[in-house]
Amino acid sequence: MLTGVSAVSEKSSVDMDWDSLTFSFTKTDRMYVARCNEGEEWEKGLMQDFENLSLSPASGVINYGQGLFEGMKAQYAEDGKVVLFRPAENARRSREGARRLGMPPIPEEMFLDAIKQTVKENIRWVPPIGKGALYIRPLLFGSGAILGVAPAPEFTFLVYVSPVGPYFKGGIKPTSLRVSDEFHRAAPGGSGGVKAIGNYAPGMVPSKMAKKDGFSEIIYLDAVNHKYVEEVGAANFFCVKNEIISTPELTGTILAGVTRSSVIELAKSRGYEVREEKIDISYAMDADECFCVGTAAVVSAIGTIEHGEKVVEFCGGRVGPITMEMYELLTSIQQRKIADEFGWTVEV
Ligand SMILES: *Cc1c(COP(=O)(O)O)cnc(C)c1O
Repeated sequence: MLTGVSAVSEKSSVDMDWDSLTFSFTKTDRMYVARCNEGEEWEKGLMQDFENLSLSPASGVINYGQGLFEGMKAQYAEDGKVVLFRPAENARRSREGARRLGMPPIPEEMFLDAIKQTVKENIRWVPPIGKGALYIRPLLFGSGAILGVAPAPEFTFLVYVSPVGPYFKGGIKPTSLRVSDEFHRAAPGGSGGVKAIGNYAPGMVPSKMAKKDGFSEIIYLDAVNHKYVEEVGAANFFCVKNEIISTPELTGTILAGVTRSSVIELAKSRGYEVREEKIDISYAMDADECFCVGTAAVVSAIGTIEHGEKVVEFCGGRVGPITMEMYELLTSIQQRKIADEFGWTVEV
């Protein structure tokens, strides 16, 4: 079924059924690519057609995982503009990650320019308001050939996009999670705090096992004490007890989500007490509400948590009031349905 294609010219239309978008890859028109030789400045990036890459089999990223990614969204706002959400935060995080992984950081201006150009040249792939978003995937990786374990001699910065559906099909449905006692996501001193590509493959099997048993995702505990909540798959965790909102403190093993910091600010601005602290899993399981947040997940209610023999349900399986408030606040700002008092949205 084709929708929304009749009134526009053939070139600007896409054959998409916007109502059945999911969070999956759709090939789009154009991508941005820039390169940098070790010890030199980034060359000016160029837009080109979306196509496969040509890489040396000895490239650093394939052999040793020298790479990081970012995740952002562009979407239509109420005023008809296509807007980004706090893109400078992603630019900053990518620079910190690049330093940790021995890669040349992308200057902020270059990063933002690359994002905007890529969105503009794929503008026909931005879903109509309320139907989803254009997910933006910046990548930075060691593209040069290297045999010994060391930074690659050449790096590539690439940006591609794909339309994705809203995480909440037909409302904001609470998910069921399982606490992993067997696997950890990150250890102190490691790379858990940056969006290093190598952090994600080890989570695939645990996540698949949980999904096979009917869970949506895994809750990871800290690798030292095995009792403090770290993250939910690739989203940050929050819980609410007696109207006090808590989220795990950033210790280097937790990814500092842009959504996480936005929800903290929003909650404080609405008068809530927000604590960044160690959250014992038993405290979380005794909470009134739990939710997780991220660019992809937005604000996602947690319906149940299983830990060993114990299973708890929050809010009778419904979305808790503070979870709903945070979801509404965040999405209203992202779509400019209410005043963007923080100046978080940026037009492309
Ligand atoms: C990307 C990511 C998040 C969420 O970060 P946002 O900036 O809010 O999208 C949380 N945890 C992990 C492990 C991530 O990779």
